[in-house]
Amino acid sequence: MLIADMHIHSNNSHDAVSSLSEICDSAIKKGIKVLAITDHLDVVYCERSDVFSCIRSSYSDVVRAREKYGNELDILAGIEIGDPLMYPEFSKECANALDYDVIIGSVHTVCLDDCTDPYSMVDFSRMDAEFLHRFIHKYFDELCGMLADYDFDIFAHLTCPFRYINGKYGRDVDIRKYADRIDDVLRRVIEKGVALEVNTSGYGTSVGFMPDEWIVERYVSFGGKKVTLGSDAHIADNIGKGFDAAIQMLKRHGIDYIYSFKKRKPVIHEI
Ligand SMILES: [Zn+2]
Ligand SMILES: [Zn+2]
Repeated sequence: MLIADMHIHSNNSHDAVSSLSEICDSAIKKGIKVLAITDHLDVVYCERSDVFSCIRSSYSDVVRAREKYGNELDILAGIEIGDPLMYPEFSKECANALDYDVIIGSVHTVCLDDCTDPYSMVDFSRMDAEFLHRFIHKYFDELCGMLADYDFDIFAHLTCPFRYINGKYGRDVDIRKYADRIDDVLRRVIEKGVALEVNTSGYGTSVGFMPDEWIVERYVSFGGKKVTLGSDAHIADNIGKGFDAAIQMLKRHGIDYIYSFKKRKPVIHEI
């Protein structure tokens, strides 16, 4: 069994701390053989800071790490592009600028009226219920937009805003109320041929897997097969977090393979 962690941040991401050596040492310790370094390129900041320089240095760190760890690990060069449609041309250029193995597509920001910050920074405690409802619908609209108009490989952390709405701010919104929107998104994921990420960063907390098991079950029932596992680790210790439980969950729904990507082509691993 070859386990691939397809979503990892190094200290080239503004919100992560571990060097690539620490990440590789941790992967070896945990028996993870394939790992994708997918540092942030949040295009929302592209006019305020040189977001591309972090990505360039992430890529050179990967090239260097391959020299040192290449016999033990398959280190994939990736990028997590946040909100690509805010600057579609820039996002396309960044994805093509370096020889990436994998591109993660993420929605991190939902712009609605005067609410324009990434949702991880939004105070949901004060949002009135009607606005919150519109906000959630806008989130699903953004996902559909990204699926329609951006070229990527992994569809990241579906339902992530709920980690803040419910997890951090305890709003107790029933995600199942949005099942129709979720079904529509899942069908678009399948149609586009990208992989659905099971993001394990919330494992062991009230957040759990993103998306929840019932959503994975629906994905499979619609014919979805491509799944990647991503710890979304921001510290080396969290690489592969919750993967054993995630694999058991996938197997419960008849998924016996997970995917990685090399040179943007899918690779299958039996679990
Ligand atoms: Zn993300
Ligand atoms: Zn991430």
